[in-house]
Amino acid sequence: MRRKIVMGNWKMNSNSESAEALLKGLAEQWTGVHQAEVAVCPPYPYIALAKSVLENTNIGVGAQDVSQHEAGAYTGEIAADMLADIGCQYVLVGHSERRDYHKESSELVAKKFAAVSAKGMIPVLCVGETLEEREAGKTFDVIGSQLMKVVDHCGLAGVAKGMIAYEPVWAIGTGKTATPEMAQDVHSYIREVMGPEGDQIRIMYGGSVKPESAEGLFSQKDIDGALVGGASLSVEDFVAICRAAE
Ligand code: PEP
Repeated sequence: MRRKIVMGNWKMNSNSESAEALLKGLAEQWTGVHQAEVAVCPPYPYIALAKSVLENTNIGVGAQDVSQHEAGAYTGEIAADMLADIGCQYVLVGHSERRDYHKESSELVAKKFAAVSAKGMIPVLCVGETLEEREAGKTFDVIGSQLMKVVDHCGLAGVAKGMIAYEPVWAIGTGKTATPEMAQDVHSYIREVMGPEGDQIRIMYGGSVKPESAEGLFSQKDIDGALVGGASLSVEDFVAICRAAE
């Protein structure tokens, strides 16, 4: 059985005050032991705050990105070692906003995935097609190629130590959610590509997930949870999505 997981990606939102309020709200509402695993990925400056506010809770903490380099003269970069050092358990790699705005290639994403894994954290590989690619019937090709670049670098077993988030680019921050069936098709394809490791790897769906859409998505057999952007900035909405995963 794969444990359901819901992760919040705060992106470049919040400040000390709003981050603390959000974290305290989550700590109050997501108490005790739960079937679902829950984590938040605040911006770097608030990771330490998240670790401290969430210390006695069952809510994990992750980062939104990482450098592929170990250490050294890379101004502005954050090493996997540093994230592990401050207690991060998860790190997103290859989010579509990084692939698009920062021109991150799948080769680079593969190196980041390996860097996170090497430091004992769980890398979350984000993959997804654009609307143009979907309409051209290239969804599986695009997802397959993004995934295979990481498999080539880390091996199937290496990828299976992490998690995958299927996030159709056209559904991120747009209010358009893939139907549960559309998402299920891609999740099932990802399991196929993962071969013998396909059954065990957890695959989240991401793209405008809201409390109203969560249950339908989670009822699909290959959808193991959600990576949540916008709705993770509201305690009520995020907790409602986490409850739907129980
Ligand atoms: C995301 O950024 O990973 C995401 C899924 O965002 P949203 O839920 O806002 O579409």
